[in-house]
Amino acid sequence: MHEITLIRGDGIGPEIVAATLDVIEATGVAIDWKEAAAGESALESCGAALPEETLDSLRETRIGLKGPLTTPIGSGFRSINVALRKALDLYVNLRPARSYPGVSSPYRDIDLVVVRENTEDLYAGVEHMVGPDAAESIKIITRSASERIARYAFEYALREKRRKVTVVHKANILKLSDGLFLEAVRSVAAEYPGVEFEERIVDNMAMQLVQKPHFYDVMVMPNLYGDILSDLCAGLIGGLGLAPSANIGDGIALFEPVHGSAPKYRGKDRVNPTAMILTAALMLRHLGEAAAAGRIEKAVAGVLEEGKMLTYDLGGSAGTAAMGRAIAEKIKRDR
Ligand code: NAD
Repeated sequence: MHEITLIRGDGIGPEIVAATLDVIEATGVAIDWKEAAAGESALESCGAALPEETLDSLRETRIGLKGPLTTPIGSGFRSINVALRKALDLYVNLRPARSYPGVSSPYRDIDLVVVRENTEDLYAGVEHMVGPDAAESIKIITRSASERIARYAFEYALREKRRKVTVVHKANILKLSDGLFLEAVRSVAAEYPGVEFEERIVDNMAMQLVQKPHFYDVMVMPNLYGDILSDLCAGLIGGLGLAPSANIGDGIALFEPVHGSAPKYRGKDRVNPTAMILTAALMLRHLGEAAAAGRIEKAVAGVLEEGKMLTYDLGGSAGTAAMGRAIAEKIKRDR
């Protein structure tokens, strides 16, 4: 029996989490869910956007499954996602992007992995006004955080038998901050002579990912570039509705889809639950439940390929719950 902290999240979170729980149940993996609150909904129900009990639960179970959380734009409370990653030192944001048959997208056979540094860069949120008409945000890069994300990327490449690691940076302009990141990744790369290593400047990388994505494999980069390029990668495989992710630290991990809480679709039973469902598969694989994870991925591929139970973003008219049920039923039939 696995103990897992469950955060249903804001906006579309509760709907996609409900569909995902049906799918996990269909695999037969026994889970003792510890429900915890975070985000806008937690602020409304318990007066804190990140209650201490939620952090305690994650520290105890060491594993969490989380729906997206709403972050107010401009003013209001700071991102709870960023706060969670910092508080639990979840320094890796792993974002795989894989093509599925039957999904209309610019390319077939995409298999990319963004390894995004998850604790520093402009995401550290260190910013202030300089007088009334200027604002300053500080980009923080340290050698230790850069080396540990680089080491994760190379270890991941070895473990998953990937061909190469590309470091993405802007060290031509940001000579000190990205320069330090690049230098740290180069020094770690030298310890892995068996893994091909190359360097790309981030703007060029964005263009190349659009023009020849098959050329790339594992990409390691600072926080903000990882945020942006992983959405680009999601676009290459058919959209945010299909993109899972994991936030990983030492002996602790929090799994969530790449996409946000899409507030305009809240309660409408319209959005695609697949990113959340594939996130659950990533989580089960992390827990050593590879067979159950494989069954979920196979059922997702089957439902996508059949094309009958698809949500609006994939050209269908099925609801969130119905698509989730179709995936769950396929798993049960194949068991
Ligand atoms: P978003 O990802 O919520 O939505 C952008 C658009 O993508 C949506 O309007 C919708 O068209 C589409 N989309 C997203 N998820 C989908 C799904 N499952 N199925 C089908 N279509 C889907 O991004 P946003 O509108 O920029 O942000 C909304 C809120 O989410 C903000 O408060 C933001 O801070 C937050 N956010 C949270 C996370 C997280 O919790 N990890 C990540 C990103 C954004």
